[in-house]
Amino acid sequence: MTIDFANLQHQHNLYKDEIEEAILKVARNCNFIMGEEVQELEENLQNFTKAKYAISCSSGTDALLLAMMALDIKPGDEVITTPFTFIATAETIAFLGATPVFIDIDEKTYNINPALIEDKITPKTKAIIPVSLYGQPADMDQIQTIANKYNLKVIIDGAQSFGSTFNGITDSNLGDISTTSFFPAKPLGCYGDGGACFTNDENLATKMKSLRLHGQSKRYHHQYIGIGGRLDTLQAAVLNVKLKYYEKDLTLRQKVARKYTEVLKSKINLVLPIIDKRATSVWAQYSIRVKNREELRQTFDKNQKANLMSIQDYLKSKGIPTAVHYPMPLHLQECFSYLGYKKGDLPISEIISQEIMSLPMNSYLNDEQIEFIVGNL
Ligand SMILES: *Cc1c(COP(=O)(O)O)cnc(C)c1O
Repeated sequence: MTIDFANLQHQHNLYKDEIEEAILKVARNCNFIMGEEVQELEENLQNFTKAKYAISCSSGTDALLLAMMALDIKPGDEVITTPFTFIATAETIAFLGATPVFIDIDEKTYNINPALIEDKITPKTKAIIPVSLYGQPADMDQIQTIANKYNLKVIIDGAQSFGSTFNGITDSNLGDISTTSFFPAKPLGCYGDGGACFTNDENLATKMKSLRLHGQSKRYHHQYIGIGGRLDTLQAAVLNVKLKYYEKDLTLRQKVARKYTEVLKSKINLVLPIIDKRATSVWAQYSIRVKNREELRQTFDKNQKANLMSIQDYLKSKGIPTAVHYPMPLHLQECFSYLGYKKGDLPISEIISQEIMSLPMNSYLNDEQIEFIVGNL
């Protein structure tokens, strides 16, 4: 048996006729930039998330940039975020000349620990960027309360969590601005790069629409310094088809996650994902904690020959791909050495990054495959 990690191929085959037709339609119309499919997608995204404004853009990274530019994040500002995330969350803060301030994570959800935020707020703090890691929103009750108290903006990095909820509200419809990514391997993926920003604030929406088009107010008149950040019509066309089936896909993902949890429960020495009672996850990843992930262990092949292998290499030898999201927290990355963090500063992030391991996750894993994966753990 071989297992595909995200199984994009199977997904394409399922919706092949409609997706290929949608792509061909764009090719035939040659409306590659801001074609009608883009507008259509934004309306579909608004309907799905209940956010008043959806602004599509070129990637999840650019969505973060647009959000921070719209909120005037600039050199000298401090932006609070988590170190246990993909680099883009903090890279965009630094790219705008602001300073990322890393807060350690909650040991259960792996999301930013709100109890540690207030201590790090200074007069320079402008915003908090919680990340909905692996598909689960952070504790938005506590984060929003702190933001209100100190008059800070909240940008949710929802790159992994499109469709997830907190207190029954999609995480695209929380905070001042919420962002997402349509990178192919994200829960809702397009066929290249893509992303979106969401807000209920008309002024922010108008500004982000302008910023993604070089800060243009009307053609060749530039109100702001912006970026070339539009979503391709082709990607919008693909997303319009996939969004129709997304609810169904999510239901299947939930089922896969439940099955994993059910068969993994009896394994000692593993820590399974924990979802906050107020939240739903879209299971971008099913990630477990494995003690001594990198340790080489004695394994035996078909001929009883002994081998020393790491758990990931062993699973790979059985046709089971795994991944580590993420092996090094951002405060210890070389590019952020100028911030002066050292090992031990954010201990929970450091421990989790040593132990975390993501199992294959997609809507199409069947029970037999899940039992095979878990049986080899
Ligand atoms: C994927 C991801 C991004 C970046 O999205 P792209 O579309 O790849 O630019 C940002 N933040 C997080 C948490 C992500 O997982």
